[in-house]
Amino acid sequence: GSEVDVEGDVEIDEDAAEDDLLGGLKVDDTSDIKVPDRLVDQVIGQEDARDIVLRAAKQHRHVMMIGSPGTGKSMLAKAMSQLLPKENLQDILVYHNPDDSNEPKVRTVPAGKGDQIVEAHREESRKRNQMRSLLMWVIIAVVIGYAFLIAFQPLMGILAAGILYFAFRYTNQGGDAMVPKLLINNADRQTAPFKDATGAHAGALLGDVRHDPFQSGGMGTPAHERVESGAIHEANKGVLFLDEINTLDVRSQQKLMTAIQEGEFSITGQSERSSGAMVQTEPVPCDFIMVAAGNMDAMENMHPALRSRIKGYGYEVYMEDTIDDTPEMRRKYARFVAQEVENDGRLPHFEPDAVSEIILEAKRRAGRKDSLTLELRNLGGLVRVAGDIAKSKGHEKTQRADVLEAKKRSRSIEQQVADDYIERRKDYELRATEQDAVGRVNGLAVMGGDSGIMMPVMAEVTPRQGEGGEIFATGKLQEIAQEAVENVSAIIKKYTGESIADKDIHIQFVQSYEGVEGDSASITVATAVISALEDIPIDQSLAMTGSLSVRGDVLPVGGVTHKIEAAAKAGCDKVIIPKANEQDVMIEDEYKDEIEVIPVSHLSEVLDVALVGEPEKDSLVTRLKSITGKALDQQVGP
Ligand code: ADP
Repeated sequence: GSEVDVEGDVEIDEDAAEDDLLGGLKVDDTSDIKVPDRLVDQVIGQEDARDIVLRAAKQHRHVMMIGSPGTGKSMLAKAMSQLLPKENLQDILVYHNPDDSNEPKVRTVPAGKGDQIVEAHREESRKRNQMRSLLMWVIIAVVIGYAFLIAFQPLMGILAAGILYFAFRYTNQGGDAMVPKLLINNADRQTAPFKDATGAHAGALLGDVRHDPFQSGGMGTPAHERVESGAIHEANKGVLFLDEINTLDVRSQQKLMTAIQEGEFSITGQSERSSGAMVQTEPVPCDFIMVAAGNMDAMENMHPALRSRIKGYGYEVYMEDTIDDTPEMRRKYARFVAQEVENDGRLPHFEPDAVSEIILEAKRRAGRKDSLTLELRNLGGLVRVAGDIAKSKGHEKTQRADVLEAKKRSRSIEQQVADDYIERRKDYELRATEQDAVGRVNGLAVMGGDSGIMMPVMAEVTPRQGEGGEIFATGKLQEIAQEAVENVSAIIKKYTGESIADKDIHIQFVQSYEGVEGDSASITVATAVISALEDIPIDQSLAMTGSLSVRGDVLPVGGVTHKIEAAAKAGCDKVIIPKANEQDVMIEDEYKDEIEVIPVSHLSEVLDVALVGEPEKDSLVTRLKSITGKALDQQVGP
């Protein structure tokens, strides 16, 4: 359970909650929804991660979060810092070491004291300087007076200049050397620190000592003043967040591990050739809680010792990508919109209709029935774009139309590429979709997780050239092609009596390119091959997606919604999808009239729809039906 009071004083219509996109929430706009004060209470979903963060904050444990980007990892890490006691915060000072200036001393004092100490030192040094300059002027006066007395002796002039020079040097050198540097200042901090060190280079992570070109002359900046803190020191008594932990170089990972073990870490110059490398401070406190994050890959590639360190002294948690769609959750998503608006500070609040549209998008992006996406960074992006559009149009509140326009605009790079591609090919596609063609099938694929793209497949069958028949496929999707043909070969053999082992089969993915995830082209390949083999044309106004079993069953695939939309955009009127995916379809209204979605469960149904030319097709489909399996039995009847 969460202690978040999503609704605040807001009225909820319980009867309507089930069917309402807002879960029955009755508001004029999102400003009526109360946003929780604590960041940890603003986190939506991720119950496990949230519990762990609460627990780890109490027990001072490290946390490893694995999951997709934008699901709240850094948000939770930041939330954790707010849960830590601020009473423990410290200031850290670096002092000149009179015994060895290359080994500056380090002192820790309660937060707020550091400033005072530095100020006191400055005051003292100021006084001393005043004394010095007074002394100097006395000397100058004496020297000049003396020179006058001796009646402009040249030798006396030189002596006077010499004395002046040394007087100046003495003043300058003694000047600031004794004033310590306030390395970490927590005077004005309201919560324990949160440091995001993602992608930081060694110096930024572990601290550094600047190079000093004048170092050897004795007129440079004293070593202790050149000491710079690292994120590990700045995170002292707080949280250090490191995303993409595996991208940190191994040496830094090792040093990080030492820092975690010791709770303190000396600062030294990171670049070996610089004068900073001669300097090494006393150990500087770095007692932080580490929140490491990444995807599955990150976990496998991070330094094993570092991982076991975190595991042994902390928690590992997996971030969810989606969450069950319930009225309560939808109300939380409405609150999410309110949060994003308030955290941004410049956006107009959302009307209920506009919120519904965002929640609908959360459903769509989940890509699964009865789920909502938890990739909330992107959804937050949509909220901001919609708000900006509303503002630019002078709307007092963000309206549904603004969200719809934002959806069009806030497309990922992949979507933009796909759109651009479709745009450029449109003329060709439109022409192509009006015709029938042998061996050519409009397949569908997904790019970048959230963009569909039409990807035609062409098959050609020739008498075999070599020993046995071979399958020639081009491009990255070779494996899929191979598998699809193998799966379908048993079926083909059964009904034609003809073994494709006697043929060479050439398969070409017409517009395959980088970024296409070809998970599901197998019914496409099979259909193209059968068409080529039997010389029966295929309806080009049709696109299809689906996976194929050896028995000819059509199995479910991912990304159907995006694929259907891609087919519609490319000008197709019909699209075949696996029956098992029927419930995943959440196409936008604008496409509903444009394209007919045909769910199928067996290859014979695919061919029934796809092939044209009555007599041949009918006999083929009937033959296919007669030999293959169970999926067809359900299909018989009206
Ligand atoms: P990650 O670190 O997982 O990549 P972030 O924590 O940086 O993601 O999320 C970016 C933004 O997206 C957050 O600042 C917040 O506005 C929103 N966000 C992400 N996940 C959630 C969540 N679970 N609940 C509420 N807001 C979220």
